[in-house]
Amino acid sequence: MLNREDLEDKEAHTLSRLAVLARASKGRRLTERNDALRTCFMRDRDRVLHSSAFRRLQQKTQVLPATIGDHYRTRLTHTLEVSQMARSTALSLGLNHDLAEVTALAHDLGHPPFGHVGERALNEHMKEHGGFRHNAQGLRILDSLEERFPQALGLNLSWETRICLLKSQIPKGFPLAEDLPRATLPYLEGQIVDLCDRAAYVCHDLDDAVRSSLVPWEAFSLLELPREAEEQARKRLAEQGEKQPGPRLLRGRTVGNMVSILVQDLALATDENLKQHHELRTPEDARALGSYLATHSSKRAGQLDQLLRTLNEQFYKHEVVITSISTSTERMSRLFARICGDSSLLPHRYQDRVQDEGLERTACDYIAGMTDRFLDRIGQ
Ligand code: MG
Repeated sequence: MLNREDLEDKEAHTLSRLAVLARASKGRRLTERNDALRTCFMRDRDRVLHSSAFRRLQQKTQVLPATIGDHYRTRLTHTLEVSQMARSTALSLGLNHDLAEVTALAHDLGHPPFGHVGERALNEHMKEHGGFRHNAQGLRILDSLEERFPQALGLNLSWETRICLLKSQIPKGFPLAEDLPRATLPYLEGQIVDLCDRAAYVCHDLDDAVRSSLVPWEAFSLLELPREAEEQARKRLAEQGEKQPGPRLLRGRTVGNMVSILVQDLALATDENLKQHHELRTPEDARALGSYLATHSSKRAGQLDQLLRTLNEQFYKHEVVITSISTSTERMSRLFARICGDSSLLPHRYQDRVQDEGLERTACDYIAGMTDRFLDRIGQ
């Protein structure tokens, strides 16, 4: 049997010198006794997994509203896909895969209903009150809004997990916990998650775009990465006895190949960067470098940009996507205005926060936490 100390020893003996070691963690805001079996990052992962914000991801939009069909990605399935990709990449690079896993599981917790359209609407309402960004809101949920510890300490996660979630500049005036820096680079484990997030949503949004028949496969099949992945898929399927694969089988295998190509590329290109920076000795050195050490190769990064441009033009701005979400975001805006005019519309536990946080921020926290379905129901 392995206890926590054995697992910490194993980390120290097997992981890269740039990996964050659980034993070296700077700890939690409220000091707790160590767990008998789990390292601090395993414990963080379990807290995220059992949080109510995590459960709500199942009813939040990725691109197509969660209410539109059963076969499309939601924030929850996207999150699980990122987690699997980040864990594999971190393992192959000798990084702390438990830290990568918790970061991936938590990376979209702050997403409001209706994806990026909902995020832009809330940011507009909050522009005079510190703004709104989903990644900053994720930290707010973990540090304060989830109720698991006294003194509104949220889930009381480890310092390194919280730093891994700080991937971009926080808007000026956004209420972040006082001990967090407002602009910083995440540890390598957080950088890996950030890149896996992008690779995951590009590949899977493409899959959903075609599956929903909103964008024809031909819009993507001439682009370099899907073309290469499709050729690979045809070859393997032929070897397995399928010389004329149907479109669903072919697309499934093609998208799977795209993900594999990108994960392998991320691991190889990052490994190359690490070799070139052999002077770096600690995870803090890697953070202090000032730019990401985790990268794709320039070839794959260019192919990802190319795909993202096509998704932007043909899927994210597709009339069906825009109209299905715009009625709901209008509902969100009306609800925000109604609450700001009458705070008694807030549930009691949110009313208790108004004095310290202000009415607009509390209304924003309440609405951002809603699922698509809940907002559609109460915002009528
Ligand atoms: Mg994401």
